[in-house]
Amino acid sequence: TRGLTQDDMNIENIISFISNLPHLNAICILLKPNEAKLNIVLRSYFDRLLNFLGEAARENIVFCFTNTRSTFFSPGNTGPLLKKMLESCRIKNIPYKKANTFCFDSEAFRYLVALTNQIEFDEYQKKEYQQSWTSSFKESTRLLQYLCGNQLEPYPQIKWKSIEHAQLIINQMIRPILETIRNLCRNIIQLEQHRTNQLINLFPIVLPQPRTICYKCKPIRKRYIEFLILLHDLHTVSGSCKDCIHSQQDHVEL
Ligand SMILES: [Zn+2]
Ligand SMILES: [Zn+2]
Repeated sequence: TRGLTQDDMNIENIISFISNLPHLNAICILLKPNEAKLNIVLRSYFDRLLNFLGEAARENIVFCFTNTRSTFFSPGNTGPLLKKMLESCRIKNIPYKKANTFCFDSEAFRYLVALTNQIEFDEYQKKEYQQSWTSSFKESTRLLQYLCGNQLEPYPQIKWKSIEHAQLIINQMIRPILETIRNLCRNIIQLEQHRTNQLINLFPIVLPQPRTICYKCKPIRKRYIEFLILLHDLHTVSGSCKDCIHSQQDHVEL
């Protein structure tokens, strides 16, 4: 991760993405084994995510450890650190047990890529990679069974009872409410000053994916009865804008 502001943006993106989902099956926390101390960012991500999702989310948390061949497919030193972090968490009784902990390694893929590039390995290395593949495969299957089986119930959005979630929903309502008020004002002026029955109707649509408008791009001016209304194009931003040359900071999400 690139500094605290990038981290803040990352968690904002995660939260705004998941708020469009009807339910969550699992919240996977990815960790590396054998850390000397836990990254401070992990703690703040974890707290913010749980504050957003509400404490009932605890049952759907899954811990995934990557690069675990060196620790014999176990959480290593990170295990006790994680346990300590969970104990000091505001939300209590977050399960951290064998059933919701999974350890993998992706070396077998690197081994395959190396093999196709004619890099040679001795018998011992070959055996190690085979073993790594078998263990990771077993753990992936166990993870999928855990996620899709009946041990884990999906966590529907209706249960995400938290102040942060309410805040997000209220923030999302600001623009539609203001647009509605603005249009009411136009129609009142129209009725009072022009004494006609020609009114402006709003037709809201549901966007299939999150879109933004750019404040630097010039909107199109279009006349509706007596009013000039500025129409903004919708832009798709992921990292950079796909529709204009301006930076992500010049865009606001709708
Ligand atoms: Zn632009
Ligand atoms: Zn743009």
